[in-house]
Amino acid sequence: MERRFTAEIDPSMAGEKATLVGWVHEIRDLGGITFLILRDREGFAQVTLPKKRVEAELLGIVKHISRESVIRVTGTIKEDERAPGGYEILPHEIRVLSYADSPLPLDPTGKVKAELDTRLDSRFMDLRRPEVLAIFKIRSYVLDTIRNFFKEHGFIEINTPKIVATATEGGTALFPITYFNREAFLSQSPQLFKQIMMSAGFDRVWEIAPIFRAEEHDTTRHLNEATSIDIEASFMDYEDVMRILEDLIARVYESVKRECEKELSDLDIRIEVPDTPFRRITYTEAIDLLKSTDNPEFSELVWGDDLSASCEHELGRLIGEHYFITDWPTDSKPYYTQPAENPEISLSFDLMHPRMELASGSERIHDLDLLISRIDAMGLNPDSFEFYLRAFKFGIPPHSGWGLGLERLLMTMLGLENIREAVLFPRDMRRLSP
Ligand code: ATP
Ligand code: MG
Repeated sequence: MERRFTAEIDPSMAGEKATLVGWVHEIRDLGGITFLILRDREGFAQVTLPKKRVEAELLGIVKHISRESVIRVTGTIKEDERAPGGYEILPHEIRVLSYADSPLPLDPTGKVKAELDTRLDSRFMDLRRPEVLAIFKIRSYVLDTIRNFFKEHGFIEINTPKIVATATEGGTALFPITYFNREAFLSQSPQLFKQIMMSAGFDRVWEIAPIFRAEEHDTTRHLNEATSIDIEASFMDYEDVMRILEDLIARVYESVKRECEKELSDLDIRIEVPDTPFRRITYTEAIDLLKSTDNPEFSELVWGDDLSASCEHELGRLIGEHYFITDWPTDSKPYYTQPAENPEISLSFDLMHPRMELASGSERIHDLDLLISRIDAMGLNPDSFEFYLRAFKFGIPPHSGWGLGLERLLMTMLGLENIREAVLFPRDMRRLSP
């Protein structure tokens, strides 16, 4: 079928014939003239039917068409500066390819507001809205940018198994599955495999893949299936990989701002490219900063405490832009995290947006004995990590890496209220379908 997107037509093509396909967004019957607004992925086109000048058959079809039906229109392009795109189509032929039932489960024009849950229940219809589609066009564009960035920086893209035998970070928060007659789990992170790839000599690797976390969170920033962007790099320290991370974030913002103008305008937002380098504060400074506020909630904080969501909010409010929290207490980070000279502190960092954590990373332990003693100290059994530990026995470089949540990156960049808006079909404690 010879067809064009609505955005591929412009007024300079007046007089030419064109075929458009799409959804019936709106029909306005003004008596002497009927306007049908056709919507496709790229925009809108006005199909104009003056009663006196079009065949009765076409008018009959339009009269009985329901909103959101899929149609094909062939007609002549005519300039009209009042219409979307500056042109209208005077139809010779209109074919209904698929009738839409009514009432519609949602209003795809967005004029009638719906709760997020209702929207997600009828996601196919919700996604027809240009401002919802825009999020996913940007998501796709962000993935392109990330892939190009890593290619330029000499990283090899890898794919590691998502069905695994062991927990990565500890025994909790795993989805068990049956694997023939054994127990297995959905992977919560590619951590162990990307480290094994350092022993394999790949030097710099990256992966983008789902992570599955069985945590019983019910927040606007947690999913049970999320997308993680992970890197691991040999002969790099944690400062090196922090620089890669902030450069990547700045690059993503820059390219979205430059290339996604239409989508940003559909979303009615502007984005500011963050300045690099990002501010760095140590965990100890973060605790002191919180205690120096006169908020009684923070006066009881002691070194070693977790930073709760309200701590993150307060720090975000005080700092107001992307920043790193570095040098976390060793015991607050996973066993594979390299301790500093003072072993109570680790060579680790979290990348923070004022609203929430975006990424976690660190220098990793590459000394086998130290690694085993850290696994022990965390109350885990080194035997169940045999496949991982073997890779440390036969020559493994010092290395560092991080994991960045794609949905959190999108959510904070686009100012979305709920992380579920950045996923086509989110998985959470209550939602397994669609
Ligand atoms: P949080 O403390 O905010 O729950 P985390 O420290 O448990 O996150 P990490 O294990 O450090 O998460 O994972 C690295 C990154 O992956 C996080 O910074 C976040 O961007 C993303 N991520 C982790 N878990 C989730 C989740 N349940 N939903 C969405 N994104 C997640
Ligand atoms: Mg983290």
